[in-house]
Amino acid sequence: MADFITLPEQRVPVIAECDVLVVGGGAAGMSAAIAAARQGADVVLVERYGYLGGLASGGLIVLLLTLDDGDGNQIIAGQCQEMVERLAARGACFSPPQEEWGNYDEALVEKYRRWGLVWGSGPHRVRYSVAYDPEEFKFVANTWVAEAKVRLMYHRWASDVIVDGASAAGDTRRPTTDDRRPITHVVFTSKAGRQAVRAQYIIDATGDGDVFTMAGERAEKEQIHPWLWFRMSGVRDVDAAQAARGGFFFRTVKPGQVLMPWGAAERIERRIDATDPDDLTFAEVECRRMVMDEVDRLRAQVPGFEDAYLTDVALTLGITESRRLDGAYTLTRDDAGRVFEDTIASTGHWTKYGAVYHIPYRSVLPQHVSNLLVAGRCISVDHRAHHATKEIPPAFATGEAAGIAAVHALRAASSVQAVDVGAVQASLRAVGAWLPV
Ligand SMILES: Cc1cc2nc3c(=O)[nH]c(=O)nc-3n(C[C@H](O)[C@H](O)[C@H](O)COP(=O)(O)OP(=O)(O)OC[C@H]3O[C@@H](n4cnc5c(N)ncnc54)[C@H](O)[C@@H]3O)c2cc1C
Repeated sequence: MADFITLPEQRVPVIAECDVLVVGGGAAGMSAAIAAARQGADVVLVERYGYLGGLASGGLIVLLLTLDDGDGNQIIAGQCQEMVERLAARGACFSPPQEEWGNYDEALVEKYRRWGLVWGSGPHRVRYSVAYDPEEFKFVANTWVAEAKVRLMYHRWASDVIVDGASAAGDTRRPTTDDRRPITHVVFTSKAGRQAVRAQYIIDATGDGDVFTMAGERAEKEQIHPWLWFRMSGVRDVDAAQAARGGFFFRTVKPGQVLMPWGAAERIERRIDATDPDDLTFAEVECRRMVMDEVDRLRAQVPGFEDAYLTDVALTLGITESRRLDGAYTLTRDDAGRVFEDTIASTGHWTKYGAVYHIPYRSVLPQHVSNLLVAGRCISVDHRAHHATKEIPPAFATGEAAGIAAVHALRAASSVQAVDVGAVQASLRAVGAWLPV
């Protein structure tokens, strides 16, 4: 039997006002915040946990797949490339040198496969993909947002939005396309209670589309098999252990440490809804139990793992797909290779060579809310195109584009729908982003 309570009205303090509010500090959100701040906007970045990177750090998904088109040409640059350079300056990443990108040489391909930098079906070539250390990523990210003068707020969950004066939580009226309304505030819940941030423009980089959902935008939702990556250290000889083929694991930038991209459809019995806390609870318990079984198996059976130990298990389940925005344009598999007039980012495909998606501005653009953009894995694409657009490099790229587009809307005092996309593209080129034309 359904039972409900009614919460009393509550006066909620407005703790900050800003030009651009970015919700979610994964690869997309940090990139959006930095891009907007570098254009001169006053930016607040709110993240529910205590670190930046989302899946790209806490999720231990520590492989940038990929910055190229599969034919040896770099097609993601901008802030993703800058992140690689910042990590490289600290000796915290590993990737093939440019002269090897696109090379078919089997020994080279095998070398990079062992780092997790080659996936899919062949004939294989060397990709411009990058393995890195997650703690270094978090440190670089904190330093970088501080340099950009982004106001960072950790440990707050976006839990409500105020659309044009009304709390969306109790507002069942769905805005129509002709009746676009702005979000005026986003409400966050934390140990300090409820707090609101007032913003001119908002970027939803929550991965699950929490903000656009609360604002009444439509989405498509997938249920998926969860993963839980983990790392082990103290492996005696990683090369020999890999050659023994007793498990599926990659080298990392730390000697004797390996990354386990653990989890697969056949290992957990059912798909889960990543927006359902009960499903998440089930998956957390089940995946951790299975991770420990795998650790025990590796130590008992795989040569080199006898004295190995568990370094860490991802802080978040590896779930890449939940809600995807039903935006102004839904990019589909059939759009592969198609260049749009409003392309604001491009990406290759991590398992396919030569498959490129050009992402239009309309895929980060909601249909109804006038001051909201979306970035990262929850943009408007279909399930197939999502395989490519969800990756960390395109998350950086759509974040950077959304951050810059928000500042263009701010300067023009216009809705996000009325933004001059040509001017956004010019700004993106000026800061080193790669665009097809
Ligand atoms: C198992 C698996 C393997 C993958 N392998 C690769 C790979 O090898 N290479 C690759 O490039 N990509 C890979 N991906 C994809 C990639 O990791 C993600 O799609 C990408 O990191 C998404 O970035 P994002 O910023 O859009 O989202 P996320 O990383 O999910 O970031 C969202 C952020 O928002 C925060 N947040 C969420 N809700 C709220 C809220 N309500 N309030 C405040 N904050 C909130 C979260 O804490 C998080 O920090 C993989 C994904 C999975 C699951």
